[in-house]
Amino acid sequence: MSLLQITNLRTWIPTRDGIVKAVNAVDLEIEDNEKLGLIGETGCGKSILGMSITRLLQPSTKIAGEIVYKGKDLLRLNEEEMRKIRGKEIAMILQNPTTSLNPVLKVGDQIAEAIRLHQGLDKRTARKEAIEMLESVKIPLPEKRANEYPHEFSGGMKERVMIAMGLACDPSLIIADEPTKGLDITIKMQIVKLMKEVTKQRSMLFITHDLGVAAKICDNIAVMYAGELVEYAKTDEIFKKPMHPYTQGFLNSLPNMGLKPIRGLSPSLIDPPSGCRFHPRCDYAEERCKNRHPEMLIIGNGHYVRCFLYD
Ligand code: SF4
Repeated sequence: MSLLQITNLRTWIPTRDGIVKAVNAVDLEIEDNEKLGLIGETGCGKSILGMSITRLLQPSTKIAGEIVYKGKDLLRLNEEEMRKIRGKEIAMILQNPTTSLNPVLKVGDQIAEAIRLHQGLDKRTARKEAIEMLESVKIPLPEKRANEYPHEFSGGMKERVMIAMGLACDPSLIIADEPTKGLDITIKMQIVKLMKEVTKQRSMLFITHDLGVAAKICDNIAVMYAGELVEYAKTDEIFKKPMHPYTQGFLNSLPNMGLKPIRGLSPSLIDPPSGCRFHPRCDYAEERCKNRHPEMLIIGNGHYVRCFLYD
């Protein structure tokens, strides 16, 4: 059995303008030790998918389907049972540490608090562990820095603190949401190296719009477009043989692949296009693409694609 098995996941968020259908009938699996990259443009629903797993969404959100973690359907747990899973079993490393860290609490105290909450340790032991966590993410002078506030840390160092917080309770699964966003290339590569080291013995869902970073970390890649998965394959295969026109366009938009953007804009998730959601932007669209919805097809060797070109 997979560590995490998601079946027919649908996440709908009511807003003043209508219902945002952020995740639509998504199926995904993550095995023990697997690093799965979830990639797509900003606003395609990938972060909402990550937050649906830990159920960290506004209460009016409707989440349906199954999210089975170690044999338990997380969508059927009550809030108390879910609290025991969050952080301890499944940890999130969120984007934007500046808003995720509490500005008025010392960094060491924030990590120690997370440890105390989930492991029931006394204050002294939790603090000692917090300092060890800062050391494990290669923050120099961890004892001294534990007494500093988030604003005293650079962007890259703050991201290291977020990683330390995520790892504090030794989770089996990490959901990392754009941990390298906004970092310059040197710091980004340092964070990538660190993420690889600290997740050697863990599973990870790595959410990013940065294919280059995903390529360095992930075993498999799932490509998301307008709330749906459109392609899934081993990382090498996605780069060597991208099959979905959206994946091909996404790759072509990378700086080292020609910097050619996909024409048009991402669709609204309140009223997504009929048929294939990519059809208004697709150079290969046929008449049927406008009114029939393509199913995910297996096209060999664990490679799946949602496109009529392959049926
Ligand atoms: Fe393009 Fe049609 Fe394939 Fe959609 S199903 S990606 S519109 S060819």
